[in-house]
Parts: sequence; C-alpha cells; structure tokens
Amino acid sequence: MSIPLYVPNGDPVKFVINYEDGGNPTKKAALEALWKKFNYPDPSTGQTFNIWYRASSRNKEVQVDRLMPQSAPAGKYRIEIFIPGKHATTKRAVFTVAHNFRLEGGKPAYDDTVTIVNMYDLFDTWYNLGEFELNPAQERMSGRVRQYDMSLEDPATEICFGPVRWVPLNPPKVRFDSPVGAPEEREGPFLARPSQWVGQWFDSNPFLNLYFLGYHTGADLNLSLSSDADRGAPVYAVADGVVIFAGQGSGKWGKIAVIEHHEALVALPNGQSRYQPVYSRYSHLTDDIRIQKGQTVKRGDLVGFIGLAVGVTSGWHLHFDISHSDRLKTNPSHWPNLTRFNELRAEKKTDTKEYRNVCAVILKEVVTHYVDPLKFLKDNH
Ligand SMILES: [Zn+2]
Repeated sequence: MSIPLYVPNGDPVKFVINYEDGGNPTKKAALEALWKKFNYPDPSTGQTFNIWYRASSRNKEVQVDRLMPQSAPAGKYRIEIFIPGKHATTKRAVFTVAHNFRLEGGKPAYDDTVTIVNMYDLFDTWYNLGEFELNPAQERMSGRVRQYDMSLEDPATEICFGPVRWVPLNPPKVRFDSPVGAPEEREGPFLARPSQWVGQWFDSNPFLNLYFLGYHTGADLNLSLSSDADRGAPVYAVADGVVIFAGQGSGKWGKIAVIEHHEALVALPNGQSRYQPVYSRYSHLTDDIRIQKGQTVKRGDLVGFIGLAVGVTSGWHLHFDISHSDRLKTNPSHWPNLTRFNELRAEKKTDTKEYRNVCAVILKEVVTHYVDPLKFLKDNH
C-alpha cells in the first residue's frame, strides 16, 4: 500500500465548515456551539486523530468539506473515512465526493457521488467511499469529500466528522539501478544467482550474513576478475535524490555518502509492502567524493570511487546498503552496537544463551533499519 494523504480536522485550508445560518449571526453562533471533540487512536496505524462530532439534525444545517492537498499528483485514489468506536451512532451519515470535472456545452460540470454510511454498525475502521481519478492541482475541488449533519433520524443520533484519507493507487515509479557496473549493466537485469548483481559484480557478504561485525546491513560489492579488480571503480547514485551526507564516516568507515530518495516500494519485515522514502549508503569510498551535502542528484550520477575498507579483511569493495528508516539521516555512520557481541566472541562464549540473545537484538536492529538491497533494487527497477 502507498502512503495515504491525510487531512487533519481543524486545518483551516482543507477542513472547511459551512453553516446554513441564512446570514443570521445568532443562529451561526448556536450551530458553532454544538461541536464536541475528542482524541482517538486509529488501532491499525497507531495515529491519534482529533475527531469532531455533533447531534444529527432534521434540516441541513452544517456541512464540512475536506479538500485534498493541491500538491497531490493527478491519478487514481481510493477515498476512505475513519469511523471511531464512539460518538458515531447515526445510521444515515451522508457523504459526497466531487470528481469528473469537465466542460459540458462549454460550461463547467462535475459529478458529486453520494454515499450513505451506517456508522452505527462500524467500529474503528476506514470506510471506503470509492475509487476516483482526481487532479486537485488542476481543479481545486477535485476529490472534495463533503459531509452533512442531516440524517432525519428521530430521536437525534451522533454524527462524527473524523479524518479522511486519499490513498494513491498508482504512485509514480522511481527507478533504481545498481551502484556499480557499466551503464548497460547498471540498468539490469539483475542476475538470478543470489550473490551475483550485474555483469561480473558479485556480493561477497550478503544481507543478514552473520560475521565478525554482526549481521550485515547490506552488500559488499566486488568485481570477480581478481581480488583488486574493483579498486578505484566508479560508484553511481542508484536513483534520483538529495545528498544527506558526503565525507568522513566514523570508526572504520572511511569516506561515505548517503542519498535520500523519495518514493520506493519497500518490503517490510512483517510481510507488507508500501511506498515510502529510503536512503542509500555508499561506503569505503576514496577521498575523491564527487557529490556534496544538499546537492540534488540524478540516477547514474557519479558519487565517487571504490576505496579500501580500513581494517576490514575483504579489502577493496563497495559496502552498499538501503535503509527504510531515517537512521542514516541522523547518523550516516550507523552500525548496531557490537560491544557485548565482541566481548562474548573474545571470551569464546558463542555457544551461550547470552550470545544468542545479543545476536537476536542486533538482528532486530538491522531489519528495523535496513532491507535486502538486491531484492529492493529488483523491486524498484
Ligand atoms: Zn559491508
């Protein structure tokens, strides 16, 4: 699933309340005074929303419009409303969705698709109002969700005005290439054998391999012609992005570069996939780094050259990893803490329960921040 666009209640630009007050300030004030609010968590995401509610009415007195952000790209969206497990007892909440803006006989026209929602029977759920082709940049009202307080129920019930989200169904695809290889090789296809990337490039230390530095966070890319064949080989940006860091890393990293990319398909450890920002890291580079912090780069731009991994036995190689958290943004040299891991190995206590527990903690930290880079590149190629 891709990242939905939320409009929080109360946003003065995108959460617009209209009162049927006939221009009477006293009546408008009375309608305004009937709002009640509470905070409520969405159990599926953990997000907490400020939710508004009021008594239903026999006449249309209040209508609330939610507008999409105008920066949202044109495309197909599924529109969903959140219905909390309290203060939503109406069986007749009325929603309309504005879409299909067009000219008819030279005059502007659009469709307003109506949905009647039985909130009484729904708890803590996102209710689907349908899928629509929308373009808010071209037409401000495209994707507008309007809701009324009128339900004609007697006695009155409670209608909640919870958050609305627009879930993009065809997010723009950003292409990712291999960070090494000749131009036609970097474009792929990636080779079938698990450790082999493109051309003669292979990964000598695959993702999650347990070795003397813990679980590997990425790939160690080498050229198989000879042990030093990759010395000084060029390293390229895997996709369009912005440079977060370029310079000396801490510890034994040598020179590293981190690039932030906007939208990519990430397979999460829990088995779900979603579009989100990611960070690519290029490590053990030579001093000759060709990109700078803050710079915008294109896929295939030269980042630098493969250097020697100081103190790392595998010698010349590119350490390359992909992070799906923001850890590399705050700490470009991030690596799980190996203090206890190293102590237990020095004491030759690797067959102990404590060692297994320490390994499990390191493994969890790695999968919390990194994904298998080869699978990621294949998914986003
Ligand atoms: Zn490595």
